[in-house]
Order: sequence, then structure tokens, then C-alpha cells
Amino acid sequence: MKYDILIVGSGLGGLVCADILSKEGLSICVVEKNKQAGGCLQSYKKHGCNFDVGVHYLGGLDEGQILNKFFKYLNIYNDLTLKKLDTDCFDLINYKNEDYPIAQGFSNFIEKLHAKFPNEKPALEKYIEQLKKIQSSLSMFHEMKDDNYKFLFDNEFNTLGAYDFLNSITQNKDLINVLSGNISLFAGKREKTSLYLYGLISYSYIESAYKIAGGSQQIADLLIHEINKNGGKVLTNSEVIKFNSENDKLSSVLLSNGEVVEAETFISSIHPSLTLRMVDNKSIRKSFSNRINSLENSVSAFTIDVVFKDNSFKNLNYNYYHYNLDDLWDSPLVNESNWPNAFMFHIPAEKVETAYAKNLTILSFMPFDFVKKWENSTPENRNQEYEDFKEKMAQKLLRKVDSLHPGFINSIKRYNVSTPLTFRDFSGTIDGSLYGIMKDYQSPLSTFIHPRTKVPNLLLTGQNIAFHGVFGVIIGAILTCGELIGIKKIIKEINDV
Ligand SMILES: Cc1cc2nc3c(=O)[nH]c(=O)nc-3n(C[C@H](O)[C@H](O)[C@H](O)COP(=O)(O)OP(=O)(O)OC[C@H]3O[C@@H](n4cnc5c(N)ncnc54)[C@H](O)[C@@H]3O)c2cc1C
Repeated sequence: MKYDILIVGSGLGGLVCADILSKEGLSICVVEKNKQAGGCLQSYKKHGCNFDVGVHYLGGLDEGQILNKFFKYLNIYNDLTLKKLDTDCFDLINYKNEDYPIAQGFSNFIEKLHAKFPNEKPALEKYIEQLKKIQSSLSMFHEMKDDNYKFLFDNEFNTLGAYDFLNSITQNKDLINVLSGNISLFAGKREKTSLYLYGLISYSYIESAYKIAGGSQQIADLLIHEINKNGGKVLTNSEVIKFNSENDKLSSVLLSNGEVVEAETFISSIHPSLTLRMVDNKSIRKSFSNRINSLENSVSAFTIDVVFKDNSFKNLNYNYYHYNLDDLWDSPLVNESNWPNAFMFHIPAEKVETAYAKNLTILSFMPFDFVKKWENSTPENRNQEYEDFKEKMAQKLLRKVDSLHPGFINSIKRYNVSTPLTFRDFSGTIDGSLYGIMKDYQSPLSTFIHPRTKVPNLLLTGQNIAFHGVFGVIIGAILTCGELIGIKKIIKEINDV
């Protein structure tokens, strides 16, 4: 069978494209290398506990807010089981041994931080005022009528640095650090992170912050349900190893099991560099490949999935961020001796609430260099030295958490560790990068990836197009589909939701 559209990768980007295009009556096939679909939306069950691989909380889901509209347009909102995080503290920032609550609702946010910073009300008001302006600049997206992607790079907030902005509203270093407490959500870098990216992410969570009770896999499962309902297919255990060309166009993909799948049009949701490596087509210019390959990718992470003994660790309905740094924007300067200078943990929401947590995931950024010496190994043949490294780092991180939450280590029944190598092998990203290509406010155009390529029937989607994160990946998928069925129509349907 020859499909209208073949989509590589069943993460959020691939599945959203499949949902939108299958609704249009196009025949769709999504091919996924892993045995479970969902990419960073995957949850897995172990020892009776649900763990999320990536996505653990979402912003902007209250009525009328942007993600709410997107999910309704995709027809998945009504069946999602959501759990609102604590209104007065959805993120707790622990910095210099002090806890700072980040609250939902703009005036509540100001009020709670004002109590901690009595002289900083004007700065907090300026902060919120600016976030609101950034969010309303997205009207450029809501009013898009053609393939004009200016809102992604030619936008006043996209050429300003997040760090510079924070320093412009206050001289209080502690407040700047607290307002940067969500830095791990975007792997912030002082010289790269734009005010736009920072502002959109921060705004959406302050608007409203939710966990998906039972795990983020629900989003993937509901999207697959929609795709199947519309006649589309999602094939797992189907790794693409090559895009075949005929004349100037692509004709099929070759899977690692030897199967060939034909289609009229191809959408790749995996990293553009990895896509280009598999495409043998004269239309891809060397200069384009060189530019994409030279872009910096965001950092990777070391994570520990912890299972607790019964009734031993209290359930917390907020995410916990800890920093042992004078300046949070120095966190990329981590090395093996000062690691972990920062970490976050989150407790997945269960469908039935309990007073004690069943499990928790700790995440700390870790550069790929830490595990580079094992980069050519496979999960099956990693040596004892690697296992010792994992255990040494796990003990460091667990002790760090225990120092802030006494009794933590005693409450652990078992734990499971992932390194940047684990994440690389799972997701197929470069060096286990969490969020793909780093956008750069000093040169926004150079990090902008257009959904169309020079190969007439190859398009790109996923976290490298617009932004990473659930909200950013959906925008990217809308732009990609807009190239095929017209952006005006999609935007109208979203606005009419
Ligand atoms: C640890 C972590 C925590 C996060 N937390 C949040 C959060 O709380 N909230 C939020 O909004 N965002 C969060 N994000 C970001 C968000 O998860 C991602 O930006 C988004 O899910 C990426 O979607 P994607 O479709 O671009 O990529 P992916 O989800 O990576 O999907 C790509 C898919 O392609 C498959 N693939 C790769 N190569 C091949 C091949 N050759 N053939 C076939 N299939 C292939 C992969 O297996 C994968 O399934 C988090 C990310 C990480 C890593």
C-alpha cells in the first residue's frame, strides 16, 4: 500500500501531525522505532508504579487557555485525567537553603513572592506585565494566514535575552535566581535563551499547572485512538534506516527489519541532523546540512526513578527544584566534581490520591561528556566501569536529596537509573539531548528550522521546529501540517474551538 503521508517517529510531533492530517481524510502511517509509541510522552509501569519518561506537567490547560484549545482541537481534552498542582505552590524553588513558592494565577504569584521579597513588588509587577505582553505577541500565530513564520524569529522578545530581562527588572540577585528556578524546563543558557522562550514557558505554568494523573502516556494513547478512528496506523518496532529517492523526490522508507513503506509525502519528527543523514537526495545542499549539524543541542540528564516503601515519603503536589549555585545561569558549568549542583524531582499523580507517594523521579542535568567513553557501546554490552559510574553518581544524587529531605534514603525500596546514554538510545536524539537544538536570541534566524526542506515531499516537525515542550511541539506540528493543508484552515478551527 502507498500511503498519502508517512510520519517518522511517534512522539508528540509525529502523533499530532497524524491526528490533524488523518482528520482531513489522508491515509497516514506513523513508524516508530521503539516497541511502545509516544517518545517523550511515554510512561512505563514498574513495581506497580507509573513513571513518566519525559513530560511530567503542563501549563495553559484551564478553560480558554492555549493548550486547552489545542487539546480540544485534537479531540483529546475531554478524556484526559488531569490533576491540578497546588495553586499556591506548583513549583517549589529551594535556593540558598530557603524555600520559595511559585504560585498559579498572576496576582497570587505576585502575592506569594512579595511575601518573600517585601521590597520587590514593582519588579514582580513588571515581570508579570512583560510575560503578558509576550503571550499576547502569540496573536501573530493566531492570525497567521500563510506560511509566514515571522512570529518564531522576527519578534521583539526573541531578540532579547531572558537573563538580561531579569536583570533589567531588579538588582536583587536572589529574586533573579528564584524567577529562573524553572531553568531546567528549557536548559537555559545566559548567552542563548531568549526572553520569548522563557516568557512563554513561564507564563503558561503561572496561568495554570497540571499533571496527567496516571501518566503522560495518556496523551499519546488518546492521539493514537483518534488516528486509528480516522483510518490511520501507528506501527511500533519499525525503525527507519533510510529514505529512498526516485528522481528528485522521496519514494519510500527502508525499515531496519528490511520492510519498505511507500508514501507520497514524508514527515520526519526526529532530529533534523539525523533525518538528513538518512536522506540520499541531491536537493539537500551541503551548506544546509552543515548549518544544521553545527547547531548546539541542549544538554542531557541523569535521572533516578525511585520506588518508596509503603507510607514512608509524603506525597507532594508540587515539583521541587534545588540549586546549590550563586547564579542559576551558571548551571551549565557543571563538572564531575561539583555535580549535582542542581536537581529537580516530581511525584507522578495517581488517579486515586494517596497521602504517601508511591514513587518519584529525580532529574539532574548531565553533559554527554560524562559518559562519552562508553558512547560506542550498546545497552547490552556496557561494562562494569559504566555500572560503577552509574551507582557512584546515583549515590551522590540520592545523598543530596536526603540532605534536604532527611529520611529520604531510608524510605527507598528500590531505584532505577538512566544516564545520557540511556536517553540517547531510547529517544534517538543526538548525545541524549533533552530538548533538541538550542534556540539563540542573538541569532534567531540561524537556529530556525523551516518545516519544508528542499526535497519537495519531505517535511520536518517535532521539537526543533518552533519550540520544545508540549505547547511548542504542537505549534510546530500545526506549521508542518499547514504546509500541506493550509495554515488558515487549521488556525480557524483552533480559534473556533
Ligand atoms: C526528561 C524530559 C522532561 C520533560 N518534561 C516536560 C514537561 O514536563 N512538560 C513539557 O511540556 N515538556 C517536557 N519535555 C519536553 C517534551 O517532552 C518534548 O519537547 C516533546 O515531547 C518532544 O516531542 P517530539 O515529537 O519532538 O520528540 P520525541 O518525543 O523524542 O519523539 C521522537 C520519536 O521518534 C522516534 N524515532 C527516533 N528515531 C527514529 C527512527 N529512525 N525511526 C523511527 N522512529 C524513530 C523516537 O523513538 C521517538 O518516539 C520534557 C522532555 C524531557 C526529555
